[in-house]
Amino acid sequence: MLRQYELVDLVKSYDPDADEDALNRAYVFAMKKHGAQLRTSGDPYYSHPVEVAGILTKFKLDSVSIIAGLLHDTVEDTDTTVEEVRELFGDQVAQIVDGLTKLAKIEQKSANNKQAENFRKLLLAMSEDIRVLLIKLADRLHNMRTLHFCAPEKRARISRETLDIYAPLAERIGMQEVKSELEEIAFAELHKEAHDSIVARLNFLREKDSNLVPKIIEQLQKDMEENGIKAVVSGREKTPYSIWRKMQQKNASFEQLSDIMAFRIIVDDVATCYQALGIVHSKYHMVPRRFKDYISTPKPNGYQSIHTGVIGPENTRIEIQIRTHEMHEIGEKGVAAHWAYKQGQKAEGKNFRWIRELLEILEQASNPEEFLENTKLEMYNDQVFCFTPKGDLIGLPVNSTPVDFAYAVHSSVGDTCVGAKINGEIRPLRTVLQNGDQVEILTSKAQHPSTEWERFVVTGKAKAAIRRYVRAYKREQFITLGQEILERLFKGESLEFSEKGLVNVLPNFEAETIDDIYAKVGEGIVTGWDVLKAVYPGYKQSKLEKVVKSVKLPSFKKLVKPKKGKGEPLKIKGLIPGMAVHFAGCCHPLPGDRIVGIVTTGKGVAVHTIDCKALEKYADEPERWLDIAWGEEAENEMHTGRLKIMLANEPGTLAELSNLIARNNGNIANLNIINRTISYFEILVDVEVKDLKHLTDIIAALKASKVISYVARAAQ
Ligand code: MN
Repeated sequence: MLRQYELVDLVKSYDPDADEDALNRAYVFAMKKHGAQLRTSGDPYYSHPVEVAGILTKFKLDSVSIIAGLLHDTVEDTDTTVEEVRELFGDQVAQIVDGLTKLAKIEQKSANNKQAENFRKLLLAMSEDIRVLLIKLADRLHNMRTLHFCAPEKRARISRETLDIYAPLAERIGMQEVKSELEEIAFAELHKEAHDSIVARLNFLREKDSNLVPKIIEQLQKDMEENGIKAVVSGREKTPYSIWRKMQQKNASFEQLSDIMAFRIIVDDVATCYQALGIVHSKYHMVPRRFKDYISTPKPNGYQSIHTGVIGPENTRIEIQIRTHEMHEIGEKGVAAHWAYKQGQKAEGKNFRWIRELLEILEQASNPEEFLENTKLEMYNDQVFCFTPKGDLIGLPVNSTPVDFAYAVHSSVGDTCVGAKINGEIRPLRTVLQNGDQVEILTSKAQHPSTEWERFVVTGKAKAAIRRYVRAYKREQFITLGQEILERLFKGESLEFSEKGLVNVLPNFEAETIDDIYAKVGEGIVTGWDVLKAVYPGYKQSKLEKVVKSVKLPSFKKLVKPKKGKGEPLKIKGLIPGMAVHFAGCCHPLPGDRIVGIVTTGKGVAVHTIDCKALEKYADEPERWLDIAWGEEAENEMHTGRLKIMLANEPGTLAELSNLIARNNGNIANLNIINRTISYFEILVDVEVKDLKHLTDIIAALKASKVISYVARAAQ
């Protein structure tokens, strides 16, 4: 284990301005906090953070990162708080340690590795500071290096996770060495026999000639020079894991692989690439089917190079890649494009290249702090990743809500969603989801998508589903209503009501189907009388309809403006003068609603909303129906609107509800609990408001409240 002064010396060797005092304090703090805790190896626990800090010095990271590395498990595994870390070591260290603690919690939530891709994105999205990710990788690397102390089942699980999640992450941010080491350890663990035999084979080849790679490089360099080509030749032995992957992909034996050693010839231009290829092929035997020209036919990610396999210098099978400097640059730096290609994703290159470049600057920087300070990871900051109760990860656009989440799970879940628990607590459906939230959608078969949702959902899937539903639902209601209005009207007039009759008049109403006519009548675009007169052109109006029409015709002004000194002003257009009027208690119409009047026996005209179910009763008495509308003065009156509300079942929630309504100038006229469970209750609240807009404002205010899970205007 690194001693305290050794670690400090290491940091000072590349960063002379490092905060020595803070490094010393962090070392001692970690030691004290982890105290007598032991690792599976029997070593004191604090040896782990110390080794992680040691790995971080290899990346030449700033003192903030080294200190955060020393403290990375203190909040997770000891009684240390983030506040304590902040007080002792400052904001930056505290933020990074906090990020690492959150990552640790997220790791525990993930139930399976099936969604490795989403999980990697989540880790990237949560690592707002690149140092969080670098420390996480160093942490994993040290855990892998000490893996042999763990129980066999645990070793296999951790190794698979490393191959699925962490090695690709390391590759994604351009840390090739870390990636290779993680892969090698995991490979040795998961496929011990294959690993051992490949290593033995490589050792055997190396023993035959330990200078094989340099010798081949030298020979290839000479071949190029002799033909007057300026070239840079490099070469390397491939890692056991990548050899094994190739063997699997090609279903080949070790001996059949020609690319245990790979060499690169880099030249100035494309023409020279083909010249160099000619030289290689004329001098060495080609291995059949190994030649690929990605210069004339680039890979989908833009990768360009010539690949060929030959029995090369020293009579060894090798792979040779020939390319220009420019192609090489793109091939090496375009980590993202490269990676995305392998993952079958569309290219998302910009951000990764940025990180790769950042790391390169870091390697050369004398003062890494400058470069790391305030550098934020900007990958996937347009996405959030949330867990289902089973631990599956769902990726959504930023600002998504539980409704978006529900639709992402399944349309049927979205359509029937009534509420959501976020991290175990009932939260409003409009709550904006955060990375790592666990979301449980509460559903009810009686629930339908609401137009209100359209205001806050962000995913196209949710938007489309809501609109589709609302459109279909409204139309369905209008069709039912329209059909009933017509049937009752015809019956009331003792006329035959037949679909055939309606088919004949489809063009009159610019309708394609009978349902179109029903919908128009239901919505009030066309009146029942319009249709009746179209079907029976010569039919004479009934007496009452004549009366209504004759009253309505003269002038709206007369009807709207009250006569001086006479009772309440007429708020509604289309009424019969002198007839009393009242608002129906079933649907509580508000100025702004579409309304109809029903001429009652003895109580004058009752005003209902067009979608009120109570209208069914009067369906067979069309002569009672009045076409009415709101007048301008209606705004000055108070009306009763009814809300259906779902509240968290907690103390104080009802008080909060009544406060919110009062603060928005509403007045509760009545309140009725209709359903109650352990976690929430459902209530109907009658609120006195000026008009529909006033009620909508109150609904919006209630929706913004934390204790109210659901609020909508009640249908009944
Ligand atoms: Mn750790």
